[in-house]
Amino acid sequence: MNAILELKNISMNYQEATSETQAIKDVSFSVNKGEFISIVGPSGCGKSTLLSIISNLITQSSGEVSVVGTVGYMLQKDHLFEWRNILQNVLLGLEIKKLLTPENIAYAKELLNRYGLGEFKEHYPSQLSGGMRQRAALIRTLAVKPEILLLDEPFSALDYQTRLYVSDEIANIIRKEEKTAVLVTHDLSEVVF
Ligand code: ADP
Ligand code: MG
Repeated sequence: MNAILELKNISMNYQEATSETQAIKDVSFSVNKGEFISIVGPSGCGKSTLLSIISNLITQSSGEVSVVGTVGYMLQKDHLFEWRNILQNVLLGLEIKKLLTPENIAYAKELLNRYGLGEFKEHYPSQLSGGMRQRAALIRTLAVKPEILLLDEPFSALDYQTRLYVSDEIANIIRKEEKTAVLVTHDLSEVVF
């Protein structure tokens, strides 16, 4: 099997003025193309730190990370900009990466249509339900065509019933788009689901 993501002996110590926090100690694993893996653990155990290292937002204290392809990172909060409509929000990643080509814009619109937000392109985030916002955030992440998706407690901001529905939906989207995904959460039921 060919690993698309590989972590070898990753440790992370946060240095502060008077103290040091060891957030991660000696973590190793690998993920093959098309796999969906979940990491579950209590709050504070280093889950977000791990995803931030994989996405290269922070650098580990020791160990090696190898990633084949680009990484898309979906955070716990949807972080949609309230002053941009849904289409403008979904195009944000492409805009930042200077990839706003007609083909990429068409792909983003196609994702919105495919996943039931086509009619809401011109709406603003405040006009959408929590589940729809979360879907828009996922589409924004998918629009840049990442090979690996990182999901940080993606459903914890939603109420229980919405969560069941949205997690089913999002699992389907990831399956359909044949993405490799790493999900972290403190919620065992989310992982099982
Ligand atoms: P989780 O996502 O599992 O809740 P985190 O990765 O956010 O855990 O945090 C792991 C540990 O690292 C915690 O003890 C937290 O206080 C500490 N930590 C996280 N980010 C920082 C930071 N930027 N500076 C210092 N300590 C941090
Ligand atoms: Mg976290």
